Amino acid sequence: MIARSLAVLPTATLIGVAGTLVTASLTYGQDADADLRVLPVRGNVVMIVGAASNLTVSVGVDGVFLVDPGSAALADTVLAKVREIGLGAVGAPARMTTCVGPQCYAPGSAGPYTPYGWANPAYNAVISSPAPARPIRWIVQTTFDRDHIGATGKLAAAGRTFLGLGKADPGATVFGHENLLRRMGQLNAPPDLRPTETYDRETYKLSQYVNGEGIQLYHAAAVTDGDTLVHFRFSDVISAGDVYAPDRYPAIDVDKGGSVQGVIDGLNTIIDVAFPEYRSQGGTMIVPGHGRLSDTADVAIYRNMVVIVRDRVLDLIAQGKSLEQIKAARPTLDFDGMYGSPGPFIEAVYRDLTRVGRTDHR
Ligand SMILES: [Zn+2]
Repeated sequence: MIARSLAVLPTATLIGVAGTLVTASLTYGQDADADLRVLPVRGNVVMIVGAASNLTVSVGVDGVFLVDPGSAALADTVLAKVREIGLGAVGAPARMTTCVGPQCYAPGSAGPYTPYGWANPAYNAVISSPAPARPIRWIVQTTFDRDHIGATGKLAAAGRTFLGLGKADPGATVFGHENLLRRMGQLNAPPDLRPTETYDRETYKLSQYVNGEGIQLYHAAAVTDGDTLVHFRFSDVISAGDVYAPDRYPAIDVDKGGSVQGVIDGLNTIIDVAFPEYRSQGGTMIVPGHGRLSDTADVAIYRNMVVIVRDRVLDLIAQGKSLEQIKAARPTLDFDGMYGSPGPFIEAVYRDLTRVGRTDHR
């Protein structure tokens, strides 16, 4: 229910982490579609929109924490954008001042900064080199789809893991669920696409504060059996990947362990973790895999749609209908205006619910 406000962001405007407007001269990649925009969500967290899937970035003193690096075709463009955001974290450019000389900001003088005397921060900013961009240190892969993770190798290689003196830097740490790595192994995915750190429990806490907050991963066996939700606990933002995409029906990949019940469970996990604003928009912000920034009520509405369609398809299966008959019955008709073509979704729900050996339909 958050307004579609992205269209008003001018192309060359980056809204810095501190909420200040910074005009930047941006160099986009060759891809004509790569008009990436940055939407500050809350706290450290920004959302990059305009790629095939949404990217979520936390940026701050520790570096860049990136949820989904995006598609391989846009790797350079995303990298440039992430660097630009990383520079923003160093701080907005120091304000220039007309006050010159060691007496500026002396105790008792009027000035925009604390009275440091000659060694005030404004002078330091003028005489020192610009600080480097914060490095990408962590990447989370939310799902198997190449639109979300195709650029992993390039962005991880451009990142850093601090291992101590004399040790080679392996690039950024790439987190993913154990099932994601397992599927990649089965499908011979390139080594640089694979997570370097996996977890195999229902939830996983990063072992340290990142940019001043705890970050918690939740496993969801949703559109695949290796999906991950990411909760920024202080900023109170959830990056949902393809578990939640309010501009389309769930892209359930049955062959990779996805299931309709898994999608419902994943959406319920988001709703469990998130707090709604009282009778209003707001509360915990949810960055979807695709589509607009959302809140708890948006996710609940989407979850209800998935449950309703699941039950309708289940009833038609119970009546002995074939897939073609179920499609012809149009069990999603009242939702198609919001979510588009339902064909692959109905097929996936049907395949999932009629799988031999399934006992957990409801
Ligand atoms: Zn997706």
